[in-house]
Amino acid sequence: MELKVALNRCHRFPSFVYQKSSFQDDEDIVNIEVRARRGSRPICSGCNRRGPTYDTAQAPRSFQFVPLWGYIVFLWYFMRRVDCRRCGVTVERVPWADGKNRTCNAFRLFLARWARRLSWSEVADIFCTNWGVVYRAISWVVAWGLAHRSLDGIEAIGVDEIAVWKGHKYLTVVYQIDQEARRLLWVGRERTEESLRGFFAALGTARAKLLRFVASDMWKPYLTVIAELASQAVHVLDRYHIVAKVNKAIDEVRASEARELAGRGYQPILKRTRWCFLKRQENLTPGQTEKLADILQYDLRTVRAYLLKEALHAFWEYTSPWWAGWYLDQWCTRALRSRLEPMKKVARTLRSHRDLILNWFVAKKEISCGTVEGMNTNAKLAIRKARGFRTYEVLETALYHELGHLPEPDFLTHRFC
Ligand SMILES: [Zn+2]
Repeated sequence: MELKVALNRCHRFPSFVYQKSSFQDDEDIVNIEVRARRGSRPICSGCNRRGPTYDTAQAPRSFQFVPLWGYIVFLWYFMRRVDCRRCGVTVERVPWADGKNRTCNAFRLFLARWARRLSWSEVADIFCTNWGVVYRAISWVVAWGLAHRSLDGIEAIGVDEIAVWKGHKYLTVVYQIDQEARRLLWVGRERTEESLRGFFAALGTARAKLLRFVASDMWKPYLTVIAELASQAVHVLDRYHIVAKVNKAIDEVRASEARELAGRGYQPILKRTRWCFLKRQENLTPGQTEKLADILQYDLRTVRAYLLKEALHAFWEYTSPWWAGWYLDQWCTRALRSRLEPMKKVARTLRSHRDLILNWFVAKKEISCGTVEGMNTNAKLAIRKARGFRTYEVLETALYHELGHLPEPDFLTHRFC
């Protein structure tokens, strides 16, 4: 069987014909010649309509194709120019690649699919290309997906921020968190009101009015924009963000107490105990459980903070918003009397957002609560996979590609991977 039989089966374009294929000297490169079918008229790249041929290039242009059996594959084609009635003389548009791109669309889709499973630099290495080609392939697939996706029927969204790089750089991300559809909807720079307004602009007013639940953290700019643009939705302060705040407070108490004990020359009993206090009891290792049981016997500020944290778990078990509210008030009073400044600060924050926190019990059955946390973890993984160039564009592309569940370019019938 000749190579062109396979090509005609997986990558066929009616106006073009595959010719000879050959190895390039003794390198691992296969070159395949392509020519226009006799009598066919080229397509103008300006207006996408066919016109008469003006002339044909003197030298062929190469397009990298999906590699085969460890060989790099190129298609070679003499580009024609079109004498277009509307646009003048233009270069023709070929169906296997876009614009001046030297990479076949099939190969770009191939790279982008692999980049979901491997890191981008691994994809570049394995398939004999470079990071830039992989990145541009993914950007193209993502741009196509964003242009062709549907934003209809979204009822629940989660707004979150992701810290990127050092020096307080943030991205604002918006997820769809409906039970049956979870995906990344939007990525914006910074975490300002403007960032989130960008999402609502993309969503459109009509769709924003159909939102039923919005989950977010207590970041003021988000609260303001949500109150203004999705006021009909039940706004929920996400459990995950509240637990994170309490954990941060415990960590502060523990760190300052450990320093103090060391300063006064006591035994370093709080050394290497960070995770004993932050993890849920059921997730502790046997060693950590033992260590924790030991520390709990001491009269320490950290222990009091820990007991407060454990008491807050019961809050989430309530089903009635009214009783949950009663419990929250009790907890806040206790925390405010604890003489632990970081815990008092948390209690004041929870008190001032009481209504939004209790909305969690209203929405409990309707939105899945671990979703924002899970998406956040996946987002960080996606960012890691794309490590290379440190620009916002790269991060945005990586996040959409990994978490956006975007539709893929559909003009190829054959799946190359
Ligand atoms: Zn034209």
